[in-house]
Amino acid sequence: MANKAYKFRIYPTAAQCVLLAKTFGCVRFVYNKMLTERKGTYEQHKENKETLKKLKFPTPAKYKDEFTWLKEVDSLTLANAQLNLQKAYKNFFEGRAEFPVFKNRKARQSYTTNVVNGNIMLLDGYIKLPKLKLVKIKQHRDIPAHHIIKSCTISRTKTDKYYVSILTEYEHQPVSKEVQHIVGLDFSMNGLFVDSETGKKANYPRFYRQALEKLAKEQRILSRRKKGSHRWNKQRLKVAGLHEKIANQRKDFLHKESYKLSKRYDCVVMEDLNMKGMSQALNFGKSVADNAWGMFTTFLRYKLEKQGKKLIKIDKWFPSSKTCSCCGQVKAELSLSERTFQCECGFTADRDHNASINIKREGLRLLA
Ligand SMILES: [Zn+2]
Repeated sequence: MANKAYKFRIYPTAAQCVLLAKTFGCVRFVYNKMLTERKGTYEQHKENKETLKKLKFPTPAKYKDEFTWLKEVDSLTLANAQLNLQKAYKNFFEGRAEFPVFKNRKARQSYTTNVVNGNIMLLDGYIKLPKLKLVKIKQHRDIPAHHIIKSCTISRTKTDKYYVSILTEYEHQPVSKEVQHIVGLDFSMNGLFVDSETGKKANYPRFYRQALEKLAKEQRILSRRKKGSHRWNKQRLKVAGLHEKIANQRKDFLHKESYKLSKRYDCVVMEDLNMKGMSQALNFGKSVADNAWGMFTTFLRYKLEKQGKKLIKIDKWFPSSKTCSCCGQVKAELSLSERTFQCECGFTADRDHNASINIKREGLRLLA
């Protein structure tokens, strides 16, 4: 079985918006309530990890008697809030994430509900959702008939746009493909990557870079305005709108680049980078760090796996930059400012291209 999500814009009526706001609020309330409890038990038992692991998680049902208004919303959304917190907690425990934080009302709001007895259905131009009934939807693409809808996540952006992400499941067993065409990618600082086959940099489109500059400018204007004033609020929405636009452009670009690679090659090799440490080391701006590489890797992996192809990650300590891809000699020193790789053997190449060739070669070695 494989999964695929489809995201569409929805246009709720004023009355539906009220119910949506209520549901976002309830989900947030339950999530924060459970987190408070969990935090308490964590503080109590943090010396003993084994005890902590065995402790029962609070359930949303226990809050319903005290806070009766929770009964007004789709109860599955509250159950999903619990699952999300459990997942966040597990990620923390297994060292993949920080301790979960409280949800705040200013961030993007969302909730997830599941399909039970035909409560969710796509009808002509509308989607039927629990409690909301029919909501207008702009369905710009079809969901294939063999895909079964499993759940829906409804979200509201900071600029009050509503979306539904429909998670589907379908039967799919990819046949493992023999590796004939392989490529190595080196993460590029001011682009996305350089590939071993063409030596070209996959760079963000110009309009994207221009939008980033515009965002920086609008953010400066925002910082000069009086917090809470009418003009500040107007500017805040403008900045939020730009953020959304940029995030969409970036996602679009990452989908396109990963699609091209997954069509052209049977195997992609890349380094296993720790993006958090890297964005700090390289001093990226916060809005640019944005985990683009992580997102790109995720897209690439599922696009490859769907076709029975492979993504190989090599050790982050592999000296991809310092090794000469021509003679194999490893340099003792290579500063970040050296953009051209020059070896005693006479080989000269762009630094990132040289690294990508080494990455590909290491991938070939691992495959053999
Ligand atoms: Zn050399």
